[in-house]
Amino acid sequence: MLAFVMATLISGLDGGVAQALVHEVDVHSESMRNLEELCDGVGPRLTGSAGLHRAQTWAAAKLTAAGATNVHLESFALGKPWQRGSERARLLNGNGLPFDIAQWGWSTGTAGVVRGPVVVLDAPTLAQFEAVAASLAGKVVLLKRRPQPTEAERGDVPAFRERMGKLWGSTAYVAVLVPSERESELLEMAGGPFLKLKDRVAFIGRDQAALFERMIARGVTPQVELVLGGAFGPTAVNEANVVAELLGTERPDEVVILGAHLDSWDLSPGATDNGAGVVAFVEVVRAMHALGLRPKRTLRVVLFAGEEQGVLGSKAYLAAHAADMARIQAVFVLDAGAGQVVALADGKVDAWAEALTAAVAPTEAVGLGPIEVAYARASGSDQEVFRAAGVPAFSARQEQGDYWSHRHHSRIDTLDAVKPESLKQATQVSALVAWGLLNGDSLPHEPPDPNPVL
Ligand SMILES: [Zn+2]
Repeated sequence: MLAFVMATLISGLDGGVAQALVHEVDVHSESMRNLEELCDGVGPRLTGSAGLHRAQTWAAAKLTAAGATNVHLESFALGKPWQRGSERARLLNGNGLPFDIAQWGWSTGTAGVVRGPVVVLDAPTLAQFEAVAASLAGKVVLLKRRPQPTEAERGDVPAFRERMGKLWGSTAYVAVLVPSERESELLEMAGGPFLKLKDRVAFIGRDQAALFERMIARGVTPQVELVLGGAFGPTAVNEANVVAELLGTERPDEVVILGAHLDSWDLSPGATDNGAGVVAFVEVVRAMHALGLRPKRTLRVVLFAGEEQGVLGSKAYLAAHAADMARIQAVFVLDAGAGQVVALADGKVDAWAEALTAAVAPTEAVGLGPIEVAYARASGSDQEVFRAAGVPAFSARQEQGDYWSHRHHSRIDTLDAVKPESLKQATQVSALVAWGLLNGDSLPHEPPDPNPVL
């Protein structure tokens, strides 16, 4: 009862609604069961794959069953899809052991077995790379540091990328090995049609990279043999974002977007990245609908495709709806693992502080908070596309646990990474924040970023 009264006092919203949403999710949440279906039944959801298309059908059905209306897919051009093939690698001298390898997405394969001596490329600038590029011919390149744009080059990132691409293209290397940033020898996955580092590139474990360096330091050149079988499909395909709504009662033209990405990497079922966000937002819709709650503004869930390939789905969404952006009240993205929400991040603009603070206020009174309104970046995800367009857009910072160190983009992004209680809290916070934004004061738009780095 005390919490009920406090929620009413603190938020100015109906504290009963906050309590009811929290209770509904507490008692009837379908999130974990849905996440099991998505991970165990649908499986990996690489952009452009049959798995993602199965997931879109699954998600549309779930949103419809949850009570959403206007459930539909909005397609956009992807280009040729990419599919992993068989991949293996072995050290031919030294300890002679095979080692794990994971091909960079949207990078061409090796067309069979290739062999070569390992050399280290440590080139933080394009100029340093240029100076040694010719010497990489016939070598397997261990990429310790790759060129990053200098202050001057940052003004024209596409030109920088083009120059780097040309340099790689002129270099007759055998393959490129990228040390993983994950712990415990876990590999990573990355890449996309516009995130193409180069051809014939793959992640290897941290200690495997360190072993190569130890050998080189002892004067022994590692000799490796590897196969990268990933390849492109024959024809260009479309991808799609899944869209669903709960129509607003008073101002249906004003829209609050809850955004998560349905695509995942391909060597895991993507339980945390971003299955957890998907099922949380399906649950927000279900809980509001089940309670008969009708927001003043329209709630729109958008489950993006192609996030992992460089936020392609949100870019396509923005391009298709540019004229409507003024009517987007806010965008809230849940894509930082499956931990409890601790802050609304990425989006602290003074003009938004009051509305955001009011939106999170009820969380504390119902035992979910405190939730900070913070500036720090929480995750590079779809909110950044909207933010660059001036739309009030932010994301949840979540307790990270072993997310960034082990689970994120690794093959162990599995269901055991998701604690039901944490997912429940994230869902409840999302529901309350969404309800606040759907019914509270409007947030002013910012001037668009003239030179966004996305
Ligand atoms: Zn993600």
